[in-house]
Amino acid sequence: MIYMRIYDVVIVGAGPAGVGAALQCSINGLKLLLIEKNEIGGRIRLARRVENLLLDKSISGDDASGYLKKIVLNRGIDFIEGEVKKINSFEGRYITYTKKRAYYSKSVIVATGFVPNIPEIAGIDELYRKGRISFEWKGLKREVDSPMLVIGGGEVGCDSACSLKENGFDVIVFSRSEKLNINPILLQDVNRLGIKVINGIRYEEVFAQGNVIILNIIKNRKRYFFRGKSILITVGGRPNLSIIEGISERERLFVCGDANKDNYHQASIAFGDGINTAMRVTQILSGRPK
Ligand SMILES: Cc1cc2nc3c(=O)[nH]c(=O)nc-3n(C[C@H](O)[C@H](O)[C@H](O)COP(=O)(O)OP(=O)(O)OC[C@H]3O[C@@H](n4cnc5c(N)ncnc54)[C@H](O)[C@@H]3O)c2cc1C
Repeated sequence: MIYMRIYDVVIVGAGPAGVGAALQCSINGLKLLLIEKNEIGGRIRLARRVENLLLDKSISGDDASGYLKKIVLNRGIDFIEGEVKKINSFEGRYITYTKKRAYYSKSVIVATGFVPNIPEIAGIDELYRKGRISFEWKGLKREVDSPMLVIGGGEVGCDSACSLKENGFDVIVFSRSEKLNINPILLQDVNRLGIKVINGIRYEEVFAQGNVIILNIIKNRKRYFFRGKSILITVGGRPNLSIIEGISERERLFVCGDANKDNYHQASIAFGDGINTAMRVTQILSGRPK
């Protein structure tokens, strides 16, 4: 006889939302499996300083993701590294496929965050195809005398610019809006670190010339060219839900964290949404009314 293990819940993504969900499912005694394609921690590991956690002080993104790793480890949560390629449903069960295996469960929580947007700038698709664009500041290589061109002057762009500057990079932030729309603490850091910000611009074109990337912008009807070694794009994103496209059985399939289009993109919201989702899963699987 073939024994097939059936989990109560498979959770995809181990960022704040997935770990929050895994923690609560484990507290509630559900048989769960957490699957993550990269590191536990998700995008919060990119944050320079997280101000709004349930703590009496701000902490670094590295420390925040360290806490998430400890939750998974200390609670003995069943965790595997792997990229989920697809989720299907069949006869009341969900089947989650990684490259190596299929996992069966009664319910699924999708906590896969978002897919970054690519702004509409002439030439950007070609740079993207050539792998000349980055979406995360970590892992970028510092180049002497060549600034990092950060496209997007929101909180993620400015926070990443501060991290780059503190790591010795020369950096310029470009923003379409007339002034930076970020929280005052971050604005203070941008100013204190002397980060160059170019506001109120229109992007014209971007292209590669050998090793160098050239960004062509218009500001106050004048044309400017900026040269850099790399481009970092931080202009928001959309829910990362391709693994559940076309799935018909949705009753016990849940989406939480940044993958949920209605949420603000904050770690505590994602973590709390994970907990909330785990409570709903527990209640539905138990068959009890709320
Ligand atoms: C630079 C920066 C600074 C930030 N600063 C702050 C801050 O100060 N305060 C704050 O509250 N928030 C901050 N945030 C936002 C915060 O990081 C996010 O809101 C939060 O991480 C969302 O959690 P999540 O679990 O929903 O998604 P994510 O953190 O994106 O996690 C999703 C996880 O799913 C995994 N995954 C995706 N697809 C698959 C797949 N097919 N198979 C397996 N795994 C998959 C990903 O690898 C990832 O680990 C910042 C973000 C950035 C980038």
